[in-house]
Amino acid sequence: MSTKYIIVTGGVTSSLGKGIICASLGKLLEARGLSVTIQKLDPYINVDPGTMNPYEHGEVFVTDDGAETDLDLGHYERFLGITTSQENNVTTGRIYYDVIMKERQGAYLGKTVQVIPHITDEIKSRVLSLGESGKYDVVIIEVGGTVGDIEGLPYIEAMRQLRFDMGKKNTLSIHLTLVPYLKAAGELKTKPTQHSVKTIYEIGLQPDILVCRAEVPLEIGIRTKIAQFCNVEIEDVIASIDAESIYEVPLLMLDEGLDKRVIEKLDLKCGDEPKLEKWNSFVKAVKYPRKKIKIGLIGKYVEHHDAYISIVESLIHAGAMNDTKVEISWIQSDEITPENVDKKLAGLNAVLVAPGFGHRGIHGKFTSVQYAREHKIPFLGICLGMQCAVIEFARNVCGMKDANSTEFDPETAFPVIDIMEDQRESMETGGTMRLGLYECAVKKGTRARQAYEEELIHERHRHRFELNNKFRKDLEKGGLVMSGVNPERDLVEIVEIKDHPWFVGVQFHPELKSKVIEPHPLFVDFVKVAVSLVGDKNHKL
Ligand code: GLN
Repeated sequence: MSTKYIIVTGGVTSSLGKGIICASLGKLLEARGLSVTIQKLDPYINVDPGTMNPYEHGEVFVTDDGAETDLDLGHYERFLGITTSQENNVTTGRIYYDVIMKERQGAYLGKTVQVIPHITDEIKSRVLSLGESGKYDVVIIEVGGTVGDIEGLPYIEAMRQLRFDMGKKNTLSIHLTLVPYLKAAGELKTKPTQHSVKTIYEIGLQPDILVCRAEVPLEIGIRTKIAQFCNVEIEDVIASIDAESIYEVPLLMLDEGLDKRVIEKLDLKCGDEPKLEKWNSFVKAVKYPRKKIKIGLIGKYVEHHDAYISIVESLIHAGAMNDTKVEISWIQSDEITPENVDKKLAGLNAVLVAPGFGHRGIHGKFTSVQYAREHKIPFLGICLGMQCAVIEFARNVCGMKDANSTEFDPETAFPVIDIMEDQRESMETGGTMRLGLYECAVKKGTRARQAYEEELIHERHRHRFELNNKFRKDLEKGGLVMSGVNPERDLVEIVEIKDHPWFVGVQFHPELKSKVIEPHPLFVDFVKVAVSLVGDKNHKL
């Protein structure tokens, strides 16, 4: 069977949850035995989101191969249990960058380089290279942005051409739209969908299936109207009603027959019924937990939850494994002071200090670490959170006054977090971050080893600074356990302390590898201990 391509566009408004629809459809096809991958096409001019402010763009998702990508790739991985790579995220910046490089090298043999065909060809080649790898039965292409946006035009045109090149039997166009409910009129309105479909028709990409986001169910009358005015069959009008949890969306799409329609139209050879036993029990565990805990997420971008989306999802996965609802208390780190920390962190069953860059909010993080350490509250520090834990420990346990990271105080007498010598050289040549998958050896007899139950683990990274090996001995003497080390470069990856129920800091990002079917062991253990410390009577649900 040759690879089939499913193009997913969005209309009317942004934030309709295109990524979740793509991941849900991918899940349903995967559950029928097909091998599926999803590619995100982002119409912005940044080469990647690595340089974007998290308030602007949300989390930067890092893949095994060290690509800094859109957060939707996280949904794809979590839903499908797959591993994505740089290839799964294409941006306008990258497309233009490569086309311009080729032009400079004379690759276009004197031709005038233009949006059509050069940019569109480059887009198509990125899509086709996934298909031509021979690894996938289905490639789902999520076209970012909203139909009608100027910057999205080359992508829609490339997709139009892709359908012509690969044939209608091998390609499918799905359009996600909004069917708003007007309270005053007491009615669902189809006009925005009609206009959106008209716009996409003008560009030449007819939708085969419409997925309609709505707050209330779509009655047959509405479905008929949409079908009639948008040139699709009634069965191809799929309702996507707001769900309590994103993990219910595949099940809702199954009920609506989205996968069935896709399979029929593309003539996909696969199992009759999707195997969703594990998924179903996961959703049940998410919806009907028996216990509840509250975890404080201490970060500087907490007003924008998307900045920590993988952490949030990892806690949901770990909660489900522990039959527990994990409620997150979002706490702005720059508002925490030694004077108010008692109040700010009151009632928390665990504390998570989040990753981050730059100085803002750093003192609140130190204070939170100290509070969790001294009050024996389960603590997980991720990346900058781990670095804060090391700094706090150096200052308050090992007596290294004003110990710091050179990121915040280049002159500190105790640079317990610093850039390592060999890294300094690569920084001068522009390679600034340690990105992607690295190995870590986990020491026997440690909390981390108990959680992972494995000696060698592989985790994803995104940072510049490291625990400074010059201070390792002193920190160890004070009682900090270096429970995970990268064997190749002898870099500390995990720290923990002993006389505490659960206090672990990790230099890597475990949240990037947690999946629905394979929750991350560190999060599972963290939640497990936090739950175990709560008396039964406190689990008010
Ligand atoms: N700012 C720190 C560093 O660069 C931590 C980065 C992070 O938390 N992702 O090392």
